[in-house]
Amino acid sequence: MSRIYVTRPFLPDINEFVNEIEPIFDSHILTNMGPVYNKFQHRLKDYLDVPELSLFVNGHMALEMAIQAFDLDKAGRERGGGEVITTPFTFVSTIHAIKRNGLTPVFCDINSDDYCIDADKIGSLITDKTVAIIPVHVYGHICDTDKIEGIAKQHGLTVIYDGAHAFGETYKGVGVGNFGDATMFSFHATKVFNTIEGGAIAFKDKAHSLPLHELKNFGIHDEEHIGAVGGNAKLDEFRCAMGICNLRHVDECIAARKEVHDKYHERLDGIKGLTLSSPGKDVKPNYAYMPLYVEPEEFGRTRDDLYKALKRKGIFARKYFYPALNEIDIYKDCPGGETRIAADVSRKILTLPIYDSLALETVDEICEIIRG
Ligand SMILES: *Cc1c(COP(=O)(O)O)cnc(C)c1O
Repeated sequence: MSRIYVTRPFLPDINEFVNEIEPIFDSHILTNMGPVYNKFQHRLKDYLDVPELSLFVNGHMALEMAIQAFDLDKAGRERGGGEVITTPFTFVSTIHAIKRNGLTPVFCDINSDDYCIDADKIGSLITDKTVAIIPVHVYGHICDTDKIEGIAKQHGLTVIYDGAHAFGETYKGVGVGNFGDATMFSFHATKVFNTIEGGAIAFKDKAHSLPLHELKNFGIHDEEHIGAVGGNAKLDEFRCAMGICNLRHVDECIAARKEVHDKYHERLDGIKGLTLSSPGKDVKPNYAYMPLYVEPEEFGRTRDDLYKALKRKGIFARKYFYPALNEIDIYKDCPGGETRIAADVSRKILTLPIYDSLALETVDEICEIIRG
C-alpha cells in the first residue's frame, strides 16, 4: 500500500485554475487586495454567511491581527499584563497568537465528550486582568457558544473563536462565524478548504473592518499616513484564485468526507475502549478530522501502540493534539486551572486519515489494523 497521510489537500482541475489566474496575467495585479481578492472575499462571505470577512495570508496571522485589531494588546498593557482564557488542547498557533500580542494565556480544561473548552470552568479563571476568551472549535465540534457569550457579557470580555477546524459549519442553522466578536478560519493546505495557505477573520462590527485591512498591510492608512504597528499578512491574487476554484468543490469534498466518516463508524463503533467522535447536536458538520479516543484499560492497547501499528503499514495517523500546550516548556508556567481532561485526552487521542479522495477500501484496511 502506498503511504497514507492524515490528509491530502484537494486540488481543482489544472485548467480550472488556469482559467481563474488568466486575468492576473492580463492585469499584472499580483497582490495588495486586487480584483481576485475582492471576488473571492465576496463569494466566501456569502458561503460562510457572516456579516464581515477579512482575508489573510494564513489563519495564524489572521488571529494575531484580530487580537491586535480588537485592542486586546492595549487593554492588557493598561492592566499591567492582560490575560486570555483559552484551551491547552489546540494547535500551538492559538497560544502563540496570544503570547505574541504580549498577553498571557490562561489554561482552562476541556470537556471529555467534544474536547472543547469547558465553559463551566471559565468563570473561576477570570481575574481583573482578563481581557478575552479565545476558545477553539476543536475538530469542528462547536463550543458552548451560548454559555461563553453569557460569561463574556457579564464580565465585559471579548470573544474570538479559533475556528480553524470549523470551516463552513453551522450551529442551529447559523454560520459558525457569527458567534462571539470574531472567528478565525484557516485555509491551510491541510484543512477542509484550502487556498494553499490562507485564512480569514469573520466579525460582526464593521468598525473593525478598516483596522484589520490596514494591519495586514503594514498599518498603512494612505500614501502619507501610517496609523498602526502593522505587519504583512495579505492574501495574494493567486491564492485567492485557488480559493475561488476550491470553493466550487468544497461541498463535494465534505460529502466525500462524510462517506469516510461513516465507514469508520461502521467498522469501529461498539468496540470496547474505542470512541470515535461524532458531530454534535444541531451542527452541520464538515468532517474535518476523525479523532479516535483509545482507553487502554478497556481496549488492551494504547494510542501509541495503534499509532506505531499503523505507521508500520505506511499509514500516518497523527497525535493531534499531543502534548497539551500547558505541558510544553515555553507555556508550562502559564496560569490556569486544573486540566486533567486535556492531559488525559492528549495522551489517548489519535486522528485517523480522512479526506475527500481517501478510498473506502483503505479505510477498511486502516480499521483492520486497528481491530488487530
Ligand atoms: C491550522 C490551525 C491554525 C493555524 O492556521 P494556519 O492557516 O496554518 O496559520 C490555528 N489554530 C488551529 C486550531 C489550527 O488547526
